[in-house]
Amino acid sequence: MKKRLGWGILALVMVVVAGFALGQRQIGERLFERAVSTTVGVDRTASLPDGLHAYVCGSGSPMPDAERAGPCIAVLAGKRGFVFDAGSGSIRKLGRMGFPMDRLDAAFLTHLHSDHFDGLGELMLQAWMAGGRDTPLPIYGPEGTDRIVAGFTDAYTIDRGYRIAHHGEAVARPGGFGGEARIVPIEAGGVIIYRDSDVTIRALPVDHAPVDRALAYRIDYGGRSLVISGDTVKSDALAKFAKGADVLFHEALNPRMIGRIGKQLTARGNPDAAKIMADIPDYHTSPEDAARVAADAGVRELVLYHLVPAPPARLIERVFLGETRDHFDAITLAQDGMLVSLPAKDKDVIFDDLL
Ligand SMILES: [Zn+2]
Ligand SMILES: [Zn+2]
Repeated sequence: MKKRLGWGILALVMVVVAGFALGQRQIGERLFERAVSTTVGVDRTASLPDGLHAYVCGSGSPMPDAERAGPCIAVLAGKRGFVFDAGSGSIRKLGRMGFPMDRLDAAFLTHLHSDHFDGLGELMLQAWMAGGRDTPLPIYGPEGTDRIVAGFTDAYTIDRGYRIAHHGEAVARPGGFGGEARIVPIEAGGVIIYRDSDVTIRALPVDHAPVDRALAYRIDYGGRSLVISGDTVKSDALAKFAKGADVLFHEALNPRMIGRIGKQLTARGNPDAAKIMADIPDYHTSPEDAARVAADAGVRELVLYHLVPAPPARLIERVFLGETRDHFDAITLAQDGMLVSLPAKDKDVIFDDLL
């Protein structure tokens, strides 16, 4: 009797567990169904006003970081999309943010340090497959960009064949594969490199020696403007170039924090890594100096990105900024997923989080 009761309890437990598991699965099915019907294929830009919109697809640096992809800022100017740098991991973030890849018109490289282009293969692939291109993606950048684009195109050629074979030429349009390099001339004072009826993009050489060709970019649309510094030391030319812009995205490295990390590396017996920490402040800009550039330029907002070291918590953001707000008050530290919107013919700067 006792034994039978034992089996009965076990059977009951099994029925309850099975029912619970089934219930969980049904709940999961419903959640999945709901997620698919509300997110897949939805145009997340539909609610955006006409204007300039900057998607922070990567706010990080070469330092490993679970939260931040390598440098990348994508811009929607009216109906046209542009991507500035494609750091590691950034293109996946861009997809998650709902950036309309089918409106991508061109990509731009600030300079040829690998952390600024190591996601370029993924960008070219997404432009082709998700963007439905039938011509190669134009990729603007300094001399050498041609070699990089040719290298990525070569590396992805085997994959190209598989995709055309599997999806057919009507979907994987053979002509849309790869990139087409467009070399940006180095002209002090800046040069217009892209213009159509309502979007103008300019490039300015900045100092990131020993990198001999580094560029900042300025995008103007609908009476609004934003500037992307790329990697540079403090630059008066950049302040002039950014004159009156609404938003300046400026790189920032905190030398005191990097110095502290370098000391620890020395103490741990890693002189090579310590040497790298000692070297890098001389070709980047401190947060205070970035604030000085923003003040000189008279921009509305300064957004610091390419953060070295990237502050992992709010309290450490204060350490990173130090006395920066003494020089310029309207400062935001970029985070992956941030959207900065500048509605056309307006003065507002609207921040949102898309991740
Ligand atoms: Zn660099
Ligand atoms: Zn960099």
